[in-house]
Amino acid sequence: MSNLYHNDIYKFEEPVKSYWESTTTSNYKYEKLSKNIKTNIVVIGAGYTGISCALTLAKKYDEDVVLLEAGHIGWGSSARNAGFCCIPPAKMSVAKMFKKYGKEETKKFFKNTIEGSNFTKDLIKEYKIDCDLTGDCNYEVAPHPSYFESIKEEALIYKNEFGIETEVYSQEEFNEIGHTGEEQFGAFSYKPGFAINPLKLLLGLAEQAKKAGVLIYQKSKVTKIEKKLEKFNVIANGHIITSNKIVMATNGFYKDDLFPDLNNMILPVISNIIITRPLTNEEVKSHNFVTHNPILNLRNLLFYYRLLKDNRFLFGARGDLIGSDQSSLLKSKKMEKQMKSIFPNWKHVEIDFYWRGLVAVTRKLTPSIGKLNDDEIYYSFGYQANGVNTAPWSGNELAKLIFSNSKELNISKFYQSLPKKYPFPFLRLLYFRIACLYYGLIDR
Ligand SMILES: Cc1cc2nc3c(=O)[nH]c(=O)nc-3n(C[C@H](O)[C@H](O)[C@H](O)COP(=O)(O)OP(=O)(O)OC[C@H]3O[C@@H](n4cnc5c(N)ncnc54)[C@H](O)[C@@H]3O)c2cc1C
Repeated sequence: MSNLYHNDIYKFEEPVKSYWESTTTSNYKYEKLSKNIKTNIVVIGAGYTGISCALTLAKKYDEDVVLLEAGHIGWGSSARNAGFCCIPPAKMSVAKMFKKYGKEETKKFFKNTIEGSNFTKDLIKEYKIDCDLTGDCNYEVAPHPSYFESIKEEALIYKNEFGIETEVYSQEEFNEIGHTGEEQFGAFSYKPGFAINPLKLLLGLAEQAKKAGVLIYQKSKVTKIEKKLEKFNVIANGHIITSNKIVMATNGFYKDDLFPDLNNMILPVISNIIITRPLTNEEVKSHNFVTHNPILNLRNLLFYYRLLKDNRFLFGARGDLIGSDQSSLLKSKKMEKQMKSIFPNWKHVEIDFYWRGLVAVTRKLTPSIGKLNDDEIYYSFGYQANGVNTAPWSGNELAKLIFSNSKELNISKFYQSLPKKYPFPFLRLLYFRIACLYYGLIDR
């Protein structure tokens, strides 16, 4: 199929110039696929989903697994996100969830998403992965006084319906424990929540998967899959891996080119990040930025930000709509202005890094984890930009499904079944542009 975005965003051969890439040098040690192999399971895509699934399959279930990645290990969104472990992986209000799935199912969904956060943290602890873990909650900030009531309501629902620990702060209170600025009119916090260096987490997990016996190949883009006598021939770099099962863990970077049954199910949406030079202590103090917790500004077109351990400031937003390198640069300039209008005392601060990546949005606005009905093809995708929480957990759930030979997992219906395909898929970006225009106007 033709790309939805400019080819620049699919340059698998080049690392993205992220800040995270500058914090580690250990991510180029994996080989390319250069021979034919027979295995039981091929996992396609080495982000959190693929690595976590492969790790559980090899370590817990003693399965033969080959993991293939188109870029280098640490190329995809799992290595370039903002590192927020937040909840939930759904793009709809709790009221809508209650209406669509009922209260009990929504409670189960929230229970699962909390399990997701704990699962990610437990992996970090179990494998002693040094990934600069910071923070002990997430903050959601009202960008305008009119948002404060709905923040209070959300905090109450989280507490009363889902048993989540929350706290509400007035603007003055948050000035003291969070930060000041032009779009801070009160906030609420919820637990669990924390932040990480996403690339370090990914490399730590890949290392463990390798130790557990997973054969990992980078720069090995799967270009074709053929089925012959109940076996799959997975083709990458002109070599063939013959397998019984396939796990699709390609999420936002899937180009609708391998399995018709899985095509046109995601809207890949660009998310962009900019990072400042390290702020001086005086600059940090000028906005009383005293927290290292991840923060979400609740505009319709969200901003997300946090202070890193070296006092750099990370600021993220819904990205550009074209995907070229030039559009990424232009978007970073726009975001710099937005950031500086919210934090005017930093208007002289330079931006050292900018980059972007793809998140996967589905029509049902929640993830999908499962197996195709008549084939040994497993999938997990559509985390609605909530993969630090959801992807490692989903990969583990997928491994359970593969091993158990059953059709369904004991997880909330929110995650089950495939989403509907996008009608007229080539128009996906047009629908999205219209939505962005609309929400952009409301935000103004
Ligand atoms: C800028 C940005 C900021 C974000 N911030 C956050 C955040 O703070 N918190 C949060 O929870 N989530 C965040 N997300 C979302 C999160 O990163 C994703 O949900 C998560 O990483 C998805 O993990 P994954 O393993 O499913 O996909 P990915 O990590 O994208 O991995 C998929 C892999 O599949 C590979 N692939 C694709 N096609 C092929 C093929 N044909 N052959 C072989 N390999 C292939 C790709 O190269 C890629 O490496 C952010 C995303 C972006 C882009």
